[in-house]
Amino acid sequence: MKALVLAVCMAAAAAAFPAAAADRFVRVDLAIDLETGRLSGDAEAPDGGMMLIRVERPPLAKADMPFDGYIGPEGALLPLSAGWLPPLPADADGWRVSVATPAGYLAVPYPGGMVERSAAGAVARFDLTRVTARAPLVVGPYEMTERQAGEVTIRTFFTAANAGQAESYLDAATEAVATLAAKIGPYPYDAFAVVETPLPVGLGYPGYTLVSGRILPLPFMRGRSLWHEISHVWWGNGVFVDYANGNWAEGFAVFFADYALAEREGAAAAREMRYDWLLEYDALPADEDAPLRAFTSKSHGGAQAIGYGKAAMALHMLRRKLGAEAFDAGVARFWQDNQGKVAGWADVEAAFAAASGQDLSAFFDRWIDERGAAPADPADADYHVFRHLADSERILTLRASYAGDGFELRGLEGAPGSEGELSAALSPLGAPRSGGVPVYVGSAAALGAELDRAPPETGVAAIWAAMDASGRPALAIAAEDIDAVRALAARGRHYGRWSWLVVGEGGRPKSGRWTPGK
Ligand SMILES: [Zn+2]
Repeated sequence: MKALVLAVCMAAAAAAFPAAAADRFVRVDLAIDLETGRLSGDAEAPDGGMMLIRVERPPLAKADMPFDGYIGPEGALLPLSAGWLPPLPADADGWRVSVATPAGYLAVPYPGGMVERSAAGAVARFDLTRVTARAPLVVGPYEMTERQAGEVTIRTFFTAANAGQAESYLDAATEAVATLAAKIGPYPYDAFAVVETPLPVGLGYPGYTLVSGRILPLPFMRGRSLWHEISHVWWGNGVFVDYANGNWAEGFAVFFADYALAEREGAAAAREMRYDWLLEYDALPADEDAPLRAFTSKSHGGAQAIGYGKAAMALHMLRRKLGAEAFDAGVARFWQDNQGKVAGWADVEAAFAAASGQDLSAFFDRWIDERGAAPADPADADYHVFRHLADSERILTLRASYAGDGFELRGLEGAPGSEGELSAALSPLGAPRSGGVPVYVGSAAALGAELDRAPPETGVAAIWAAMDASGRPALAIAAEDIDAVRALAARGRHYGRWSWLVVGEGGRPKSGRWTPGK
């Protein structure tokens, strides 16, 4: 369904509503009706020009493209392209918005805004500017919790199903905001909110993050993923990305969140993460390699190995080259010089060069503009350089089986189901194809006789990467019924960095890696 936006300009209204001279905001007052799927209201420009706003969308269940917008009993999501904000006149500073919602629902205010509740419903009030107006308008059957953390208001907007998670999210977000502010510079907005969505996403916007209600209860979301999204408030939504010149923000988010947490855990965890980056890049087919400057977004696995892993490794190498003090000064400078602006890799280089007094062009040419990695060097035993792995450092992981090359089924004794049933259950691995990855399915004993290794843990079902008798990388699946085969084949995709996954009694997964060189 298309947005229906009616625009009626009536300058005559100015006399009735004289605007204060200092008030350069476009006033926008909206109300949402979740039963009819309609957002309606009006807007008034600083010069008194009026405009009616009306947007209609189907409910989520009927929305083919939910990111184009939906309005219904599960709430609403309206991107800017839906037209819920009128165009901003050149002489206006931003929009001053109110959104009225019926009882039981809340609209999420932009940072700096607030929510007023009454028996009839609620009104969210907030201002936004050209720079901050990037996020969709989000409405849901939310319970809001709130905590003041210094200058920053931390909020959660969760449905009743996840309301029990709110306190732990307030704790985690408060800590992440304080830690990152100390490292980078003051948090750039008045508020940070974690907002639940029925959509299967985790997305960061200026001052808030939208997270799937299904992922919210998972420990990694409250940990590493939340820190990652909060670091994007600085990197990507505080300094914005100049996509034409490469997306540096993912590497920064990984380095300041995921990697910083690993460093806090200890040297071994940090080393393991650096190894992960090298291992992921090492598995990349040569024709998928590209310079870091060409990375814009995570469109496929190869892009992730470069835009996330290689970029974070480049920052690690830069810090080792400059020393922590000059590196931190460069980070602070990059933030101060570019906050609220669009920046590219050239601005990253300029900030670190100015802060360190060094010419960094050779370093940036090598790691940002050129593709590739340094040659394998086992003497770099702690993986401080972005390089290829030696044979002795490689391990078999589940990732290779999900590269899209299809599979060749090898049913062994104890395989649960016919060839047709097993092939259908293995569809997450692609299509059955002669020359695809050999996938052995059978009892643990039969698999043990056929393959060179098995997981060190036991459980009710298992999937692992192994070598077959002819020395080909293969996949092994031990399961007692066809549903378990299907579940393991689907789940293995999310365990690509691991060598094996064992499901214990009660469904608890355990995963691990083979030792390099074995
Ligand atoms: Zn990210």
